[in-house]
Amino acid sequence: MRWFKADLHIHSVLSPCGGLEMSPQAVMEQAQQNHIEIIAITDHNSLANCLEYEKIAKEFGIKLIYGVEVQTAEEVHAIVLFDKWLEAKEFGDNLYNSLLPIENDPDFFGDQVVINAAEEIVRFEERALINSSMWTFEEMLDMVDAYNGFVFPAHIDATAYSVIAQLGFIPEHKSIIAVGLTAKCDIDKLLAVYGYLEKYTFIRNSDAHYLAQIGSAYTEFYLEEATVAEIIKACKREDGRMTKISSFK
Ligand SMILES: [Zn+2]
Ligand SMILES: [Zn+2]
Repeated sequence: MRWFKADLHIHSVLSPCGGLEMSPQAVMEQAQQNHIEIIAITDHNSLANCLEYEKIAKEFGIKLIYGVEVQTAEEVHAIVLFDKWLEAKEFGDNLYNSLLPIENDPDFFGDQVVINAAEEIVRFEERALINSSMWTFEEMLDMVDAYNGFVFPAHIDATAYSVIAQLGFIPEHKSIIAVGLTAKCDIDKLLAVYGYLEKYTFIRNSDAHYLAQIGSAYTEFYLEEATVAEIIKACKREDGRMTKISSFK
């Protein structure tokens, strides 16, 4: 077993709020420069770019985990990760069908670009991804279970779109063993207000929308291999697996 440096919350050019500079090649170069060995591409409500980014990740020797940042009906953001593409894809298809049928406004939000490994535009996603699913937070957790995903609420210290900001608390659920933190989160201050968070494993990520943010925050995982199954074990502190987060900025 060894330590793997991971950034499990990174947006691609598919996220309307993300920079068009987030091409597969550029993302992997930036990750490599920051010694990130595991990344998850987590666009808003879509996994459409995961496979093409994975092709380039492999060239860099970086493990790409299939991910998505779901926005639930309560406007809670949660990161969902998968080991198997078939399960990821089916979850993603269901998620897409649960999105409110609103079209993206590229002038206001930016383009939602589906890209291939050669960095050619395949299509523009027309449905607004920066919108809510009709799934409630609880329904989302059930769907994650059904497709063997791993979920953690995103940026819980953020004042918007976090489970604490939207619901006021973190619902008790067997699937929630870890919570995501922003790069800026001061854990001591957070725990002083929300002492009950101590029982969760913290996962700090960059939530990068622009290249310079990649690796600005990360989590190290002590694992046998770079898989979601192993990351879950590390979050549970099982069989010698562990986690360690970067200090805040
Ligand atoms: Zn978010
Ligand atoms: Zn995000």
